[in-house]
Amino acid sequence: MDPDIQGGVDQERAEWIGRMKDTVIEARCAWCNISMGTKDGGGTVGVSHGICEGCANDMLCEEPN
Ligand SMILES: [Zn+2]
Repeated sequence: MDPDIQGGVDQERAEWIGRMKDTVIEARCAWCNISMGTKDGGGTVGVSHGICEGCANDMLCEEPN
């Protein structure tokens, strides 16, 4: 009966605070929004948008109808 067990928001916030402390830049796919990992931000925290392998393959393999 502990409501904190379903605390997904709290966990997200904790992760965000962790990122702030570590000053990492998160790489995120601009198409499907999955995380592609993090890299050292050197004092900067943010999100770097790119394209993941899956979306890149989809684009390359996409055939026009
Ligand atoms: Zn993607």
